[in-house]
Parts: sequence; C-alpha cells; structure tokens
Amino acid sequence: MAVSEDLKDFIEYKLPYPLAVVYRNYRNQDEEDWQERTRLLVALFEITVKILASITIKSYLLDGGKDSNLNERLKSFTRPALGHWLEVLREGLKYFKDRPRTPLVNHLYEFLFGRLKCSEEIQQKAGRLARSLETAPPKADRLAYFDLLVTLRNKMAHGARLSPEEYRERFECVRPIVEAQLNDLRFMADYPIVYVSEVKVSSGLFDHIVQNCNGKDFERQRFRAEEPLDDHQLYICQFEDLKSAPVFALSLSPFMVFEYCTDCKREQIFFLNELRGKKIEFLSYQCGHLLTPPEHISDLQDIFDFLSGKVSVEDLFRGRVLGRKVPRTLVSPTQDEKAICARLVALGETCLLEERVEEAIAYLRKAVALDPDAEAAHFLLATALLYQGEAIDEAIHEYKEVTRLNPQNALAQLALGKIFIELGDSTAARARLALALEADPANQEARELLQTLGLSPVTGTFISVDPEETGSEKE
Ligand SMILES: [Zn+2]
Repeated sequence: MAVSEDLKDFIEYKLPYPLAVVYRNYRNQDEEDWQERTRLLVALFEITVKILASITIKSYLLDGGKDSNLNERLKSFTRPALGHWLEVLREGLKYFKDRPRTPLVNHLYEFLFGRLKCSEEIQQKAGRLARSLETAPPKADRLAYFDLLVTLRNKMAHGARLSPEEYRERFECVRPIVEAQLNDLRFMADYPIVYVSEVKVSSGLFDHIVQNCNGKDFERQRFRAEEPLDDHQLYICQFEDLKSAPVFALSLSPFMVFEYCTDCKREQIFFLNELRGKKIEFLSYQCGHLLTPPEHISDLQDIFDFLSGKVSVEDLFRGRVLGRKVPRTLVSPTQDEKAICARLVALGETCLLEERVEEAIAYLRKAVALDPDAEAAHFLLATALLYQGEAIDEAIHEYKEVTRLNPQNALAQLALGKIFIELGDSTAARARLALALEADPANQEARELLQTLGLSPVTGTFISVDPEETGSEKE
C-alpha cells in the first residue's frame, strides 16, 4: 500500500528538517532492502521522540522546573538512551497535567495523552510486531505504541539477525505504525524550527537572519523583532503570518543544535548524544555523523546549574525565549532577496521611464515586499504611485518608508511636503519641507515652497517638529 501523496508532502515539506530528510532517504532506499528501510523508519520515530522531548524539557524549565523527580532525571541526562528521551517527554508533559500550558505544550500533551485514533489495520500490525518481539500487544494509546517502538529499536540494535522474509514481515508492520505517528504531527506545521544565524540592529529593531529548518531544504528568511533572540541557537517558533516576527520562540539548545558537519561539509541539525567529562557529543540522523562542538557545554551546564538552584530561570532563558506579540513585521525572502530585489527595481525603473506605470508599480511592490530596507524601491514605488494618482495614501506610506530608512533623503521629504500641500495640510507640509531643507540646504524648491507657506526657513522654529507627531499626518 502506497503512502498518500498528502502525507509524503507533509513530511517532506512541513516537518522539521531531520524528519523530512530521513524520510526522503527512506523513500529513496532500495525497495528490497527491508532491513535498512526499517532502520530508517525507526530513526524517524527516534527523531520524533527527541524533537518532542527537547521542546518539552525546555518548556518545563521555562515554567520554573518545579518537579523534583523530573529534575533528578534531568540532572542525569548525560548519556540519554532513547528510553530516557521518552521518559522525560512523558514525565515532562505529565507535569503540565493541571497547569497552564502554552498552545505548543497543549498540542504535545494532546498528542501524547489524547485519545489515539488508530485504524484496525494498524492495531493488527502492532499486534503482529509485538508478537515477533515477544512482548504484549499495545493498548490503543500513544505511549504503548511508543514503548513498542522502543522495544523494537533495542531489539534491532542488539538482537539476532533475521531472514530476509522476517525483515520484510517486520518492515510491513512498522511502516504504517511509524507513518501514522508522523501523520499525527500535523500541528508541527504551525511551529517551524528556525536557526538564528545573525542578529543586527537596524532602524531601532532587531533584524534576524534565520534558516528555516522545516522541510528537506534549509530556507533563508528574515524577520524583525523588538526583542532580540540569541544568535547561533535553534528555536521552535510560532508565526502569525509569514512576514512577521514570531509571536513565540523557544530555544531548543543544547538538546537540538544546528552545526556545520565537518564530515559531510554542510549544515545539519544534531541531537544531544552524550556528555563525557568536558566533551559534549551530538548526533545527526540525516548524515549519521557525530560532532563535538564545545560551545554547547555551557548551555547544558546552565541547565544543571538551574536545576541545582544556582541559576535563575530568567538567566537561563535570557535571549532564548520570545513570548509576546511583536507588532512590527517584515519580510520572508527566499533566496538571495537583495539580488532579486535589485532586478525588480531596475525593471520598475525602466517601466517608469517608458511610462508603463502599472507594470512599474507591480515590479516595485514585489521589490519592497522582498526587501523592505531597499530605499530605492520604496522611492520609485512612491513616485510611480504618485504619477498614477490613484493610491495617494500608499504613495505617502512609501515615501515615509524612504524617510524612515533615510531621513536625509531630501527628495522624499520634498515629495511628502508637496503632497501635503496638495492635501491642504500645511502643518505637515511645513515639517516635511523643513526636513528636506535640513537634509539639503541647497534645495531651492523646498525653500520657495516654505516661503510660499508663509514661514521663513531660516527661523527654524518648526524644524524640530517631528512630522509623525503633527496631528494631521497621523491619519
Ligand atoms: Zn555529516
């Protein structure tokens, strides 16, 4: 029975990178290699447990880490076997039984403890798999299925070799069980995992360059937020829309990290594998390589210190969580947004010169959507809109974007001054013309318009007026 295209697309395009890539590897595997295909299916299950456990542990710590039993387990989380990961996932979520949960934790809780809808076919296959592993058939609940898969994994690591027919039989039981678990992770599509590679301050906001790690390719994105996230950390996020900063972001370090794999010479997502003395080791399921990047030791040490009461929860999460609405939002460009934007601006400018105004506007709107910091794109768009004369409000908005990016752009200040004169708003007009003159004292047009408006530019009394504060311009 073939897996539905819908499920395949969901896994390969929406689920976190390690799942998407290992699933693709599984699908590309030789059909007849039942043993390897089963191993990859089990790897998908392991990754699922580790991702969900990483989110759960960090959510639990963020909530204050008040369960002493769980804290003891976490203190010895230095060589976690799959069973340990599953244990902290289960106990971590149980902690939230009667506590307020974030929407994400609520999803995880429902996923693990909610009623399991599983088909007759899957129940039969699980029964058959359990028999072959000499264990009891699972009840219809998620944890029982997970326990069964852990038993399978341990048997595969340490058990006897099987005949090809037995491997095939096992594969045919495991496949629908694992795929059903992945199918139940639909909520994860709303919680992308992103790696924050760089944070810069621009125009009073924090500009984040991130790699979106959902699906089988990393995708570069940007967002701006009023508060910065830590760079070089992997976050699980929630976005209200693609163009905005996340309304929620939680660092998953050091349980999941994003690192350059020195063996396969590319970035990978790794899971905490082992802490030995001062050496921390991570494992990537996508490439199978191990990595020992020392910088993550301090993240794990901070957690141990927090569990021992030496570090406060605020210190543990400083820069590692974002939990409130961020009003200002921008872009989510895909590839080399600046290059594409520059091309669109050039096209827009050509069209404008040839008076193909509608076309120019279309190109330039795309350009500003792609790179909201492209001053030239905003300026040309504003000019085109003004020329077309149908969307004056948008033209004003675009000129203001230019002056926000560059208050010294005298031409944009002058254009705004002229628009406000047209609109009969002399207060706003004066303020803008004064700013134009301040930016370019030789601008004769600004000087003359100001004189026409009845104020000498040299008195300068209005120069300090913030144009955004003049009532008439607020509309
Ligand atoms: Zn590698």
